[in-house]
Amino acid sequence: MTQTEPRVIRAPRGPVKTAKGWSQEAAKRMLMNNLDPEVAEHPEDLVVYGGRGKAARNWAAFDKIVETLDRLEDDETLLIQSGKPVAVLRTHEWAPRVLIANSNLVPHWATWEEFDRLDQAGLMMYGQMTAGSWIYIGTQGILQGTYETFAGAAQKHFGGSLKGTVTVTAGLGGMGGAQPLAVKLAGGVSINIEVDPTRIQKRLDTRYLDEVADSLEDAIVRAERYKGEGVARSIGLLGNAAELVPRLVALNWTPDLLTDQTSAHDPMWGYLPPVTPDEDAGKLRQDAPEEYRQRAYAAMAAHVRAMLELQRRGAVTFDYGNNLRQRAYEAGVEDAFSYPGFVPAFIRDSFCEGRGPFRWVALSGDPEDIRATDAALLELFPDDERLQSWLTYAADQIAFQGLPARICWLGYRERDRAARLFNEMVADGRLKAPIVIGRDHLDAGSVASPYRETEAMKDGSDAVSDWPLLNFGVGIASGASWMSFHHGGGVGLGFSQHSGLVIVADGSEDAAQKLARALTNDPGLGVIRHADAGYDLALDVARERGLDLPSLGI
Ligand code: NAD
Repeated sequence: MTQTEPRVIRAPRGPVKTAKGWSQEAAKRMLMNNLDPEVAEHPEDLVVYGGRGKAARNWAAFDKIVETLDRLEDDETLLIQSGKPVAVLRTHEWAPRVLIANSNLVPHWATWEEFDRLDQAGLMMYGQMTAGSWIYIGTQGILQGTYETFAGAAQKHFGGSLKGTVTVTAGLGGMGGAQPLAVKLAGGVSINIEVDPTRIQKRLDTRYLDEVADSLEDAIVRAERYKGEGVARSIGLLGNAAELVPRLVALNWTPDLLTDQTSAHDPMWGYLPPVTPDEDAGKLRQDAPEEYRQRAYAAMAAHVRAMLELQRRGAVTFDYGNNLRQRAYEAGVEDAFSYPGFVPAFIRDSFCEGRGPFRWVALSGDPEDIRATDAALLELFPDDERLQSWLTYAADQIAFQGLPARICWLGYRERDRAARLFNEMVADGRLKAPIVIGRDHLDAGSVASPYRETEAMKDGSDAVSDWPLLNFGVGIASGASWMSFHHGGGVGLGFSQHSGLVIVADGSEDAAQKLARALTNDPGLGVIRHADAGYDLALDVARERGLDLPSLGI
């Protein structure tokens, strides 16, 4: 029998397009880039990151999307229903070229059980956040956000730097793999528990992780030594967090900072329960799914109980947006929510200013284009110290995965300025090909996620998902190249709804106008959402930067 070789996808590069417009070409290249082996966690299964976050429903759907984007006219819109291209409609030139809806279920049915049934019947796929919306750029994408979080923790608890502290976390996957480097950037030492040796190797290869310990005891010795020397360093540790975090309690050793980024949002496919050496987790999941589920839940409960105990002993503990607390709560840990999520703990002020992830990708494929945009932003925002230090570091240290890309955090009335500058640089030839601009859904105004982005809102409006729907509509009305509406990203089915925006700077005058509107209104919604919830900072920003909010008299 002949074995079929896995398909290897790599986006085309350069200034020559085969699609009829740059928005279509960009959508095609970004879909492909999401599945580039340098970018995706499991490209052979179309899985990009975040458990089973996929870019297309199956290979037939992928091929059909690519083929359709190549023939799509500038006044047509392609509809994608959970990773499958379902229709091409005549619209108009200012309409998005692609509209995407991923994993959405009527609230009463919004469970993993129902999703799994539909997934197995071939009717759905899980889009995560930037997987199904075609704007994942590899681990760098989250590095800046993760850095913001650890820098926020340093600011709040450790006098502005993590120097001389040890962080313990788990999960070195697509997103979690950014943690060791982010802690290091914030000045600290970290121990990073990961059950899959290939994930550890990948982080070593891409310089996100410095070294690997032989055992928990060895990791602690190394960490204490670096801590004492004030050296920033990251240590990987092979093992299961559900066993190793409780062992920290038993060893009576408490880290300074404690979190977790395993894929706990997905108890069936994301969080791996401990197995004995003669057991195969994959086989157990297939042969005895109920037993597997129960073991995953029991493991998450043990993990969280240990985190709570370490918190009582003084570790600054926070949830890192994977819904681990909820899973432990479902498994009977009543005080699972005794430690906060990272957004209310460290990020909310940024959201009040509409500050959030702004990412861009060079369709030329030439790293020089990203270098030129880095330099241009350093000049455009000379007074933003965080931006200055991040971009300087990133330009020097970040290894690109797939198409060269960059991310930084910019706020309301900043993203539009950056985007228009990039458009001018494409127009006058300073850049060799168009630039794609988008963002994560970990964002100020496009997400309803009560255990993450909208946890503990001032007015109690955590679960109101009118806001991401308005965001989806606003992007469409403002000239985005493609918009997406997803359910279940980050924290899993039933727990979040969120919208994604991507837009292309192709150097044209039309693009300049679309960029100005879309990238003013999109972060604007973050300010609006937080002003409406009563945050003083957001109200000030709304007044100072000229938003029109009739119900607030602004
Ligand atoms: P991933 O699936 O690529 O990686 C998860 C990693 O956890 C895998 O490498 C897996 O081997 C490891 N793992 C699973 N169970 C384990 C266990 N018991 N002990 C040790 N390691 C274990 O997922 P990802 O993209 O890295 O995302 C991780 C989680 O973070 C997801 O739940 C995701 O939804 C969430 N997330 C958070 C943010 C954020 O900003 N905080 C953003 C995106 C995603």
